[in-house]
Amino acid sequence: MDTKIVGRFAPSPSGYLHMGNLLALLLAWLDCRALGGRLIFRMEDLDPARSRAEYAAAMAEDLRWLGLDWDEGWPAAGYAQSERSELYEEAFDALMKRDLVYPCWCTRAERLAAASAPHPGEAEHDPGCPCARLSRAERERRLLAGRAPAWKLRLPDLDVTVVDGHFGSFTQNLRRDAGDCIVRRADGVFAYQLAVSVDDMLMGVTRVVRGRDLLASAPRQKWLIETLGGTAPAYCHGPLLTAGDGKLSKRLGSLSTQVLRRERRPEEVVGQLARLCGLRETDAPVTPQELMSDFDWRRVSREDIPV
Ligand code: GLU
Repeated sequence: MDTKIVGRFAPSPSGYLHMGNLLALLLAWLDCRALGGRLIFRMEDLDPARSRAEYAAAMAEDLRWLGLDWDEGWPAAGYAQSERSELYEEAFDALMKRDLVYPCWCTRAERLAAASAPHPGEAEHDPGCPCARLSRAERERRLLAGRAPAWKLRLPDLDVTVVDGHFGSFTQNLRRDAGDCIVRRADGVFAYQLAVSVDDMLMGVTRVVRGRDLLASAPRQKWLIETLGGTAPAYCHGPLLTAGDGKLSKRLGSLSTQVLRRERRPEEVVGQLARLCGLRETDAPVTPQELMSDFDWRRVSREDIPV
């Protein structure tokens, strides 16, 4: 095993895994294992209201059922985001010292949405938050007045390029194209962009493989990691299973592992995923191990996959 290469599974236990998640996790496994790397299983249970222990347990079981293994991680201590608040707090304080976060008193709906990873159809971009422009005195006044604010990252007017392993060069102006995002909600819960960056940095992740919908988060995460003094991982985004209208598929793509496991064998599921993403020509049953032997990102579709 090449211990310098570190990949990760990072599912959020807010439901059962479905075909769309399985494709992203299969690609993460293939990418890491084909390079001889080490895989970490991190449970992204940041949001206490949406995360359930039974989903977390089912996810681990479903991955094993599919034939996707990992070397360390959940449920061992320290691999669930809900246990890592102190680490996020340290990063948050470091950002605060550099005036890179500011309090925001905008609506509650916006704050709640912001704890999880932004997937298609979920608004996140906030180009003109008035709270970013409050004077120091006004900020102090409001902080003392008592209504707890959310905290936002003050993104610079800076072009950041991520050379994605699958989609190639992707540049965003952080302020214009990404927009200040919430790093801590008003209820104190740390939000996705901060937690995922801190975790990838501290866990020494060198390869982040996930669905294309999170490509738009990669420049921010790279900048955040480098700003915190770390080394950003390589990013490699895979295609999504969609309903053909750009939205995540509600049919096959969202077919849950609960149903799949009753009706199909794991090699059949892997075979179908392999054909859908371009790694195989037919749905013939195949194991992850067999796919690994000739895994090549160049054969994986760059287009989303209508199912
Ligand atoms: N936990 C996130 C999700 O389920 C994925 C985070 C990531 O891969 O960066 O959407």
